[in-house]
Amino acid sequence: MYKAPRGTVDILPAEQAYWAHVQQRAAEVCRLYGYERIDTPAFEDYDLFARRDAAGTDLVEKEMYVFEDRSGQKLTLRAENTAPVCRAYVEHGMFSLPQPVRLYYLGATFRYERPQAGRYRQHHQFGCEALGDPSPGLDVEVIELALGFLSSLGLQQLTVVLNSIGCRQCQPEYVKVLQRHYEALSGEVCADCRVRMVRNPLRLLDCKEPACRLIADAAPRISDYLCPECETHFREVQEQLRVLGIPFTLNHKLVRGLDYYTRTVFEILPQREGGQSAIVGGGRYDGLIEQIGGKSTPGVGFATGIERIVLNLKEQQLGVPALPAPRIYLAHMGDSARLAAAVLARSLRSAGFGVVASTGGKSLKAQLRQANALGARHTVILGDDEVQRGVVTVRDMTLNEQVTVPQDGLAAYFSSR
Ligand SMILES: [Zn+2]
Ligand SMILES: [Zn+2]
Repeated sequence: MYKAPRGTVDILPAEQAYWAHVQQRAAEVCRLYGYERIDTPAFEDYDLFARRDAAGTDLVEKEMYVFEDRSGQKLTLRAENTAPVCRAYVEHGMFSLPQPVRLYYLGATFRYERPQAGRYRQHHQFGCEALGDPSPGLDVEVIELALGFLSSLGLQQLTVVLNSIGCRQCQPEYVKVLQRHYEALSGEVCADCRVRMVRNPLRLLDCKEPACRLIADAAPRISDYLCPECETHFREVQEQLRVLGIPFTLNHKLVRGLDYYTRTVFEILPQREGGQSAIVGGGRYDGLIEQIGGKSTPGVGFATGIERIVLNLKEQQLGVPALPAPRIYLAHMGDSARLAAAVLARSLRSAGFGVVASTGGKSLKAQLRQANALGARHTVILGDDEVQRGVVTVRDMTLNEQVTVPQDGLAAYFSSR
């Protein structure tokens, strides 16, 4: 018996109302802010993700799906969306458009990691990227957009957590100070952190091990090491958030898992007791486009996992609109009715009515049962007798009433209801 691979799920019809609603809200909020949709391929050149600057990150070292195609080209299933969107920006010369270029995406990403609730090896992201503008107002815009998206779904009491991790000038200085702080404590941190001390020191700050957390709490804070430009940028982000009435908390331990972030980093946490799991993560990445071969171009954005959003909607018992059920079920009995039913279904559909046609051979009772299960509002019943008389019986499934309607007046009958 085949099963879906570990860490993947089938999104069954019963789930689709959640997905349609979330995707539709995403598109709607992006329209309000002028973000346009982009779709990038499901796989990219291996080197796009495994850039020199990204070496040592969990993403590159442990989590990517890497394969060679039949021509021997090394490829990676899309492990995240920001690098592909930036690749498209450079490849299509979007730097010659008025800046910033505001883009959003909805698509699957693939990571080989331990599956857990709301987290899968194939998971789907909605995210925005605003490219070509360093203004702090743009950082605030993407935070506001992300919040607008979540609250349009009914999610409330969201917490914005904010930090600045500096730029290429000031961050290396801070990293040295951080490494010195940890050198004396290398016997007390977990094995992962001993590797991070060398390869990815900023990630020391968000280790979840209790002992490591205490050490991170007492670590030097990057806010004390920001250069004047980064300090001003961070202050202006906070000022504008206050003006807009968007509450936030500062957390000096907030860093992001990917290497390319600079300055603003943020997360949005859902309302959940004791829960720490962010539903949105994002920030500024002013060095990324240069890393992938473009000219130096600032960028800022966020990503959110749709599976995790759906999980939160369910946990908080937030309903979503039902998808439209077929309005008409077409039942038939007898040989001549079988062909007449096919012709009738065709004419109703071309008049714009959704029709589920019975495949026949079942008793009328079984056909009505199926009509009920599908949520049809009306069942059209066609027997050999009705065929002879040029009529059908229309049964209203909620009122349990039946009327006789001429076949050639059926579309008009449904239009008037
Ligand atoms: Zn700086
Ligand atoms: Zn640790």
